[in-house]
Amino acid sequence: MIRVNEHYDKLQASYLFSDIAKRVTTHQETHPEADIIRLGIGDVTRALPGACIRAFHQGVDEMADDASFRGYGPEQGYDFLREAIAREDFQTRGADIAPDEIFVSDGAKCDTANFQELFSSDIKIAIPDPVYPVYLDTNVMAGRTGTFDSGRYQGICYMDCTKENNFIPELPKEPVDLIYLCFPNNPTGTTITKPELKRWVDYAKETNALILFDAAYEAFIRDDDLPRSIYEIEGAKEVAVEFRSYSKTAGFTGTRCAYTVVPKACRVFDQKGNPTPLHPLWNRRQCTKFNGVSYPVQKAAEAVYSPEGKAQVRELADYYLGNAKIIRTAMDTLGFACVGGENSPYIWIDGNGRDSWEFFDLLLNKAGVVCTPGAGFGRCGQGYIRISAFNSLENVETAMTRMKEAIK
Ligand code: PLP
Repeated sequence: MIRVNEHYDKLQASYLFSDIAKRVTTHQETHPEADIIRLGIGDVTRALPGACIRAFHQGVDEMADDASFRGYGPEQGYDFLREAIAREDFQTRGADIAPDEIFVSDGAKCDTANFQELFSSDIKIAIPDPVYPVYLDTNVMAGRTGTFDSGRYQGICYMDCTKENNFIPELPKEPVDLIYLCFPNNPTGTTITKPELKRWVDYAKETNALILFDAAYEAFIRDDDLPRSIYEIEGAKEVAVEFRSYSKTAGFTGTRCAYTVVPKACRVFDQKGNPTPLHPLWNRRQCTKFNGVSYPVQKAAEAVYSPEGKAQVRELADYYLGNAKIIRTAMDTLGFACVGGENSPYIWIDGNGRDSWEFFDLLLNKAGVVCTPGAGFGRCGQGYIRISAFNSLENVETAMTRMKEAIK
């Protein structure tokens, strides 16, 4: 008899963004004239940089000629891209990462989702609350949790991120094996300093844990003192894996390209407690289950590192950061306590006693603006909303004018 994976039954029935979509559809049906501005889901709105488009086209043209056509590529990614990444994203910032420690993929979502399968099913997971839901749901699917009870899965070590700790998680008070961190953070938009990140690296070393560091929003960091990579912290190569993505960096959400860094020095432990390298495990996983990102897409990603591409990508992130500043200023003017919006495209707003969904409905009904209710990211998100800077400047300005009218 074919039986299902019963761990799926534990998953919360509705996905946050489908709940939002339902409410927006209902609003549109009852107010067909409404002009809705979406500052909810974190998808980019601007076109790919010109340098990437040109390289993308060239890559496609090469596929059209028998002499330059390429079939299956290396599962880990083409050397031209891995070399550019190692040099430009790490070595120039003093992080000693080699090309063969980089695994190119079609998304940080799949990589952050899939990575947990390398580990034993009885390890203890530490996850921030609020959180990008993928880390949690994939561990539920893998059977590492109990049932969902009072807003939380049993068996997970939740790391509360609240205004009391400036939305930076504290070191776990119970032993944990795998720690998920994300900076600049989705959903709160907070960043972490080097000394704060060093505490995590030291902790992982002392406790034989591993950190999965999601740096999908690294391109929005403008403050030179903030770490762009966990490998800027001494000792991190032994205890951390890092995820990066071109989605927000270069507008690749629909084009799909990302990468994961698994340093050769990174160690995990076998059942007897002996250290063993992690790199061959991820390599084996990728070779078995993944067949690489298409050649034209990798050519487009490589163009991010050309002089022209670098300037265009910076301008792209600056555009969204400009929107973030407008949102942040409007929220400050309205008297809402908020974090994020600097070195990050997300603004995390305290609803001044309003429930997250109540605040969401208020903005939808009175201002025609769609945000994301913080409660959808975890129990600690209750009472907050997330506003994303991914939209046109015009729409962001209109949305802020309407919100000021709705809330004054
Ligand atoms: N990690 C975080 C924290 C994200 O917010 C997102 C997308 O919203 C991703 C990863 C997914 O990135 P990708 O588009 O590369 O799959």
